[in-house]
Amino acid sequence: MSSDAPAVPTNFIRNIVIEDLESGKHQEIVTRFPPEPNGHLHIGHAKSICLNFGIADEFGGRTNLRFDDTNPLKENEDFMNAIMDDVRWLGFEWDNLFHASDYFGQLYDFAVHLIRTEKAYVEELSADEMLDYRGDWMNNEPGRESPWRNRPVEESLDLFERMKNGEFEDGKYVLRAKIDMNSPDRFMRDPVMYRIRNARHHRTGDEWHIYPMYDWAHGISDAIEGITHSLCTLEFEEHRPLYEWFLENIPTPSMPRQIEFSRGNLDYTVMSKRRLRELVEEGHVKGWDDPRLPTLAGLRRRGFTPEAIRAFWSDLGVSKSNSIISMGVLENYVRNDLNVRAPRTMAVMDPLKVVLTNLPEGETEWLEAPLHPQNEEMGTRRVALTREIWIERSDFMEDPPRKFFRLKPGGEVRLRNAFIVQCTNVIKDGSGNVAELHCEFDPDTRSGMPGASRKVKGTIHWVSAEHGVPVEVRLCDRLFTVPNPLGEKDHDFREFLNPHSMDVMEHVIVEPEVAEGGPGDFYQFERTGYFCHDLVDSKSGRPVLNRIVTLRDSWARIEKEMAQRRK
Ligand code: ATP
Ligand code: MG
Repeated sequence: MSSDAPAVPTNFIRNIVIEDLESGKHQEIVTRFPPEPNGHLHIGHAKSICLNFGIADEFGGRTNLRFDDTNPLKENEDFMNAIMDDVRWLGFEWDNLFHASDYFGQLYDFAVHLIRTEKAYVEELSADEMLDYRGDWMNNEPGRESPWRNRPVEESLDLFERMKNGEFEDGKYVLRAKIDMNSPDRFMRDPVMYRIRNARHHRTGDEWHIYPMYDWAHGISDAIEGITHSLCTLEFEEHRPLYEWFLENIPTPSMPRQIEFSRGNLDYTVMSKRRLRELVEEGHVKGWDDPRLPTLAGLRRRGFTPEAIRAFWSDLGVSKSNSIISMGVLENYVRNDLNVRAPRTMAVMDPLKVVLTNLPEGETEWLEAPLHPQNEEMGTRRVALTREIWIERSDFMEDPPRKFFRLKPGGEVRLRNAFIVQCTNVIKDGSGNVAELHCEFDPDTRSGMPGASRKVKGTIHWVSAEHGVPVEVRLCDRLFTVPNPLGEKDHDFREFLNPHSMDVMEHVIVEPEVAEGGPGDFYQFERTGYFCHDLVDSKSGRPVLNRIVTLRDSWARIEKEMAQRRK
């Protein structure tokens, strides 16, 4: 978060919207979110969704979900359904659902209008030739006009219609706008509006043999829908003159304004659909909803909450400066949200048996523990106490350093929600490893007894050996080991995949209520982190939980250490 953030969270786009309402330029704000259904949405898209829906919601306007389905080769229904699920999961509902393909007829008619007014022509140079003719705009060299540029209108109209009817093979002709081959803006050098693609479209079937290019379809679709503010990411800044040219040269139904903002980027991950698709198709992850991916489906499965994601993008704000946000920041939003809402429970990740020698065998005592330390309304849970319990192997050291405040031979520690115990005996196995501890509890330190508040330095968590249930836990972590896997020179980003991005613990002991939970249920495992039942793999009788985040940001420490080492 930038330290100079204003007290009232506003941004330049919101300010433009307020101005346009106050000046009477618009009575109602209409925005849209225009995904291409060629992959799943990721956390970057969530920024755009929160912005578009957020602005319209705030000012009583409308937001359309519009699928930019202009490329029949890469797009499909499954992606559309997944995108709708993701937008709804984030907490937004569109006013209208549209498709660029809904407008293919109108787009065609507007294109015919441009041909008639001598502002578009059918080109038959090859793609390579067109590139060559376009000239070196970067060095301000003028392009050359195509020999087909001044083809008679009737001829272009005839060819264009026959392109539409499927008379030609792919690549034979394109329709180009006639703008300016000397423009310093490469997009204005007679851009292509239509290409021939004899492909079946998942919505329009075999009706069309030509498909519109993004720049043509997008602005016109905005105008047809009466979009007032067409919010998009900075890479479209260069396209804005073309966006406006198209609207100025057709009998436009309305005049939307394109405004660009910077993309949301996160470190330790990749966010382009192309890279995500590679990770999925090459099997580096288990699917688009793999909990390690920054896709919304992945984050949902991981246990990230829509509330946390919305708060994250809202606080980070919207601007025109590109930056990469630390994954730790997003994780902190998740932590803060779950801290308020997650019921507490105890789970032992790496169990070590403890026998409480002064508790009777075969008996269960039920203790009462709060579900949340600050929120009494969440109530209490029953915690089973038995003679044999599990504790965390790392909570015992036979020969500990000075500041180790957990359990050691002869030492005392408080068992969370129970009482103080003292380690009286360490039992070893044949190879000399610690197999079991014997402890005695101090009855005077139980809840309600005079010694209940006696202080010892350490408190550890535990689970009854008799009642605890073993579950599988997946320790989700960063997918890459470096902050910018795509930016490492001379390296392929796959080289930086984190081999420990999902270590599996097969035998974590949880309280029975956790084992009985269902997909999506989440908890804080006290002293350890936040966990939730996997949406796909957790089954009754075979629970599987994901670690959502640790309780503290362990990566911040690692990064600090690395920075110090570099110094
Ligand atoms: P990618 O480059 O990740 O494949 P895209 O821009 O091709 O994404 P679209 O489906 O075209 O994906 O995106 C839909 C909308 O989401 C667009 O308006 C785009 O500007 C916006 N968007 C995409 N990525 C981000 C991002 N990282 N931050 C903010 N908005 C984004
Ligand atoms: Mg795109």
